[in-house]
Amino acid sequence: MSTALKVTNLSAGIDGKQILDGLSLEVPFGEIHAIMGPNGSGKSTLCHVLTGKAGYTVKGEATLNGDDLLSLDVDERSRLGLLLSFQYPTEVPGVRLREFMMEAAEEHGFDESVAASRVEEQGKRFGMERFLDRSLNDDLSGGEKKRSEIFQMAVLVPKVALLDEIDSGLDVDAVKQVAEAVEEMRSPDLGVVMITHYSRILRYLSPDKIHVMIDGKIVDSGGAELAEELDSGGYDAVRERLGIEKTRETGPQQRPADFFTDTPF
Ligand code: ADP
Ligand code: MG
Repeated sequence: MSTALKVTNLSAGIDGKQILDGLSLEVPFGEIHAIMGPNGSGKSTLCHVLTGKAGYTVKGEATLNGDDLLSLDVDERSRLGLLLSFQYPTEVPGVRLREFMMEAAEEHGFDESVAASRVEEQGKRFGMERFLDRSLNDDLSGGEKKRSEIFQMAVLVPKVALLDEIDSGLDVDAVKQVAEAVEEMRSPDLGVVMITHYSRILRYLSPDKIHVMIDGKIVDSGGAELAEELDSGGYDAVRERLGIEKTRETGPQQRPADFFTDTPF
């Protein structure tokens, strides 16, 4: 199986602060990998650096289907097949979802008629029809916004999808729906990186691998047993097992939270 995303020894910092510290990760096509880490471990920074957000000092390597990512501009990375779904999707009053998707699909090389039928077809599949002619994310619930992100991904057919906290701020039914939608996206031409600090989404979807990220690097990788360890002992249990000292202030939430303690969207 070829590699959708390969990250080798990636370090990154901003304003003199080191955030990613020699992170390596390999996601083959056809697989869904989860990255779990406490708040502040650098999960969103990894997404920003891979998609080319400005302002970071970056060292290391990252390739998508063998092509170097780090030397490219944001739009070039996107056209190559990299897609980031946002932790907090932005509301854009005045820009309809349908127009936005048509522009994006045409930018990604789809003919206008193909783009239009993809928007219709995937809109139906993800129950987005009634949102197509409304402003992007405007007045959508947390769950609807996340479903819209997955719909956008389905229209654009990325090769690598980075889903940053696709489950945060959702009630338990919405988490289940989003998890099912992610599982439905599974394809031999796509590698998915699902980032979360809650283990509850793993009740509804089965990643091929789970990676634990602490202090800017992947410290452990494994299967369902890792999620169970996190569920019962939190990140402190993993730290203790691996002999990792707490050096970073990661906030009070050390244990992957339950739905009741999840922060509202
Ligand atoms: P996560 O997504 O895992 O919660 P982030 O990648 O958002 O973590 O942040 C990792 C660390 O980097 C945090 O300590 C955060 O405060 C810090 N950080 C993120 N962005 C900046 C920035 N622009 N300037 C300074 N520090 C930042
Ligand atoms: Mg984050």
